[in-house]
Amino acid sequence: MDHRTFLVATHNKGKVKEYRELLEDLDASWVGLNDVGIYWDVEETGTTFKENAGLKATSYARASGILTLADDSGLEVDALGGEPGVYTARFGGAGLTSEERYQLLLQKLAQVPWEQRTARFRCVVALADTDGMLATADGAIEGRIALAPSGTGGFGYDPVFYVLEEQVTMAQLPVEVKNRISHRARALAALRPRLVEVFGG
Ligand code: IMP
Repeated sequence: MDHRTFLVATHNKGKVKEYRELLEDLDASWVGLNDVGIYWDVEETGTTFKENAGLKATSYARASGILTLADDSGLEVDALGGEPGVYTARFGGAGLTSEERYQLLLQKLAQVPWEQRTARFRCVVALADTDGMLATADGAIEGRIALAPSGTGGFGYDPVFYVLEEQVTMAQLPVEVKNRISHRARALAALRPRLVEVFGG
């Protein structure tokens, strides 16, 4: 197995770029699923972020023969008992826009006061080779669900996720700040020592 190349388990070019930038000191080659001719999606049947990240990393590593990094992330809202969690991308059902999904979240929390609107974005990153899982790491960023959307940056639930440590919504943060403090950046930072080890080995 070529330990100089990493496959990022995504069809999204932007995500491959983000990983490359966050780990540029590794001097590795980075490819996405489309670059290796994988156009199908692993079914995310797990009930935890770790299970889903592991499923994706191991399945794509086996299919490609390349060291694979996969992540799974979502939003945990305490007033909803931790939901939508692993179902964040599907919250409210199929076919909704991101805006419809976060508006639904605001509606569900309409009666919940500010102090009780605590939430976090969580991300688990998994690393696998053709023999199976090598490592996982997780990252989180704490915040509150805003009373109304603001900001135009980012994607998904960013306009309604108020970041406590920055006192603005995730959608109001400059991209370089988001990429430094996000759940994904933190999970990847936690995995970095293992990546360096595997890369060097
Ligand atoms: P995925 O596991 O990275 O595909 O993320 C699952 C879902 O969580 C996405 O569809 C988004 O709705 C939401 N999500 C994950 N990360 C972020 C983020 O950084 N900002 C806003 N929404 C996010």
